[in-house]
Amino acid sequence: MLSSEKRFAKGERNGPVDHSERRTPRAWASGRWQASVLTLFPEMFPGPLGVSLLGKALEKKLWSLEVRDIREHGLGKHRTVDDTPAGGGPGMVMRADVAAAAIDAVERAGRPLIYLSPRGKPLDQARVRDLAAGPGAILLCGRFEGLDQRVIEARAIEEISIGDFVLAGGEIAAMALIEAAVRLIPGVLGDHASTAEESFAAGLLEYPHFTRPQNFEGLPIPEVLTQGNHSEIAKYRQAQAETLTRQRRPDLWTLYEKKKP
Ligand code: SAH
Repeated sequence: MLSSEKRFAKGERNGPVDHSERRTPRAWASGRWQASVLTLFPEMFPGPLGVSLLGKALEKKLWSLEVRDIREHGLGKHRTVDDTPAGGGPGMVMRADVAAAAIDAVERAGRPLIYLSPRGKPLDQARVRDLAAGPGAILLCGRFEGLDQRVIEARAIEEISIGDFVLAGGEIAAMALIEAAVRLIPGVLGDHASTAEESFAAGLLEYPHFTRPQNFEGLPIPEVLTQGNHSEIAKYRQAQAETLTRQRRPDLWTLYEKKKP
């Protein structure tokens, strides 16, 4: 059996992971946004979180990523983490005692404890904004059929879904949540990017974008965008955002109309 340290080292080849917290617990007080991920596949991290702007921000320590192998808390020689479902049925279920031990080994540091699950509350930009404004998150990634219900209740775990579809494991869902939150941390996207106008920020989908060439396969850039009249441009974009939202997302449109003064 690989020691957890070795498993982490394996993950590190994948990109820069900051494991300094594991050695220096004082780093928890750093004020940096901290993600802790509990997974059976630590080698999946940082994966996509280690590239581009998020990867650079990780190197610059604007946020940190701690990856913990649940199997470290597995039982017996084989480090067993799952068992057959009580009451029968297909597949395997992650044991409550193993999951609890993995959870209890993580420094909580005031962070929400989240289980990625298709049964959870659907993640939206408002929740992402809340998470980004907080100290970070502890994310438990399920595998198999899921997690023994008793640990969800005993540890008061919040369940979050990334959409009405079923993944094979919680890792990609955890990455999606982390990516959405970390890009909102000041300094991560750089000076030019604005997260104030993008989709969902005002309850609407974003207006369409255009750039050069001026003529693409006979299609010009809408004239109003090329004339430099900023109040006309703002009006055009607002109208486009409203039309798009009404057509594509009647659910969002209804909420938006209710909120309008
Ligand atoms: N039997 C479960 C699905 C298990 S999928 C059910 O029907 O509800 C295995 C793991 O993938 C889950 O434990 C969860 O951690 C993760 N997962 C799957 N779909 C997800 C989604 N839409 N959002 C977040 N996590 C998901």
